[in-house]
Amino acid sequence: MRLRSLKENGTMIKINEHYTEIGNNYLFAEVAKRVKEYKEKHLEKKVISLGIGDITQPIVPAVIEAIVKATREMGKAETLRGYAPYEGYDFLVNAILKHDFTDRGIAVEAGEIFVSDGAKSDTGNIGDILGEGNQVAITDPAYPVYVDTSLMAGRKIELLPCTPANQFVPSFPEKTADVIYLCYPNNPTGTVLTKDQLKPWVDYAVEHQSLILYDAAYEAFVSQENVPHSIYEIEGAHGVAIEFRSFSKTAGFTGLRAGYTVVPKDLTAKTSKGETLSLNAMWRRRQSTKFNGTSYVIQRGAEAVYSPEGLKQTRETIAYYMQNAKIIKEGLESLGLKCYGGVNAPYIWCRTLNSMTSWEFFDFLLNNAQVVGTPGSGFGASGEGFFRFTAFGNREDTLVAVERIKAVLLSNID
Ligand SMILES: *Cc1c(COP(=O)(O)O)cnc(C)c1O
Repeated sequence: MRLRSLKENGTMIKINEHYTEIGNNYLFAEVAKRVKEYKEKHLEKKVISLGIGDITQPIVPAVIEAIVKATREMGKAETLRGYAPYEGYDFLVNAILKHDFTDRGIAVEAGEIFVSDGAKSDTGNIGDILGEGNQVAITDPAYPVYVDTSLMAGRKIELLPCTPANQFVPSFPEKTADVIYLCYPNNPTGTVLTKDQLKPWVDYAVEHQSLILYDAAYEAFVSQENVPHSIYEIEGAHGVAIEFRSFSKTAGFTGLRAGYTVVPKDLTAKTSKGETLSLNAMWRRRQSTKFNGTSYVIQRGAEAVYSPEGLKQTRETIAYYMQNAKIIKEGLESLGLKCYGGVNAPYIWCRTLNSMTSWEFFDFLLNNAQVVGTPGSGFGASGEGFFRFTAFGNREDTLVAVERIKAVLLSNID
């Protein structure tokens, strides 16, 4: 038998002790644990999940065909592709530029796009090019990656509450922020900033020479005219903002993995010696050192999202999800529960019943309606007393879940 370990008392390395400052349980791990325990005790019950923001609708045919075709190319010497360019293949970069920017009248150039394996890694990894001492402002509640990766790097954070009291429009930080994470349309609240509401943030960043990290993973769900698809629709943003995009929610790539990040060439920062550096060049350097490209096959799939059929089919899937959003929102509001979001985003953010805490409401819905949502407090302290439902379920489950919730809430309203 092979010995697993010669020494019982561990290594002597110095670890990144900042990891002791982040919570142990990733939010969705705790949700999954409670659901698993419930299911084991109640084998006969069918639990419906409107919880984690994962997709349920099949990936559209245009994308699948492109992936299959590209896979076959890999099986022939003449069409085989090895390592991909770090920034992504031209065919995908050009499709992104045309459809997401040029056609919308937004100025972005080829050398400013970096194709990646998704927005989660990029929103976290971007910290690699930021110095330790930066003061970071993050909206609260938020997608957990921003807070956790900032803590892992030992950065100081100021949270900016977003609640009904400020109509989910964050106030400027008290302590001048070097780096500001904004995510619109927002996960988890489903709320947006209009162009007029985003402009002051760009102005703030220009005035304080700060950097905005703009997560636009839900851009494809924007339905209202005055809501920006990209931060670069706002004057001045090219000098102060990096934007993250993802094919995950746009086209169901959560399991395929593709996204991209825009780092404008206008973006610069100074070293402590006063030397000016390009963030675009730094990110290129970071990616070429630590990242070896998104797979060719998947980039072909992403390219197909922008084909006429791909656009049509993915729009239909998004419309399907947004119909779910409407069903959830109208169902909950018919009970007098106050709900937000669900118009430009696939999330509905609602108050819990009878002032329950978010986790009490989670357990209440799981036990009484066998419906799973996500406790708002898991996204930050300002999420306490709220609950997130996702529109990414299938129609049948969504309808049943809403009916079950209605039934239990009606018999429990104070
Ligand atoms: C889902 C999501 C992402 C997407 O991450 P991927 O790694 O591209 O799947 C990024 N940001 C937010 C806010 C999200 O909700």
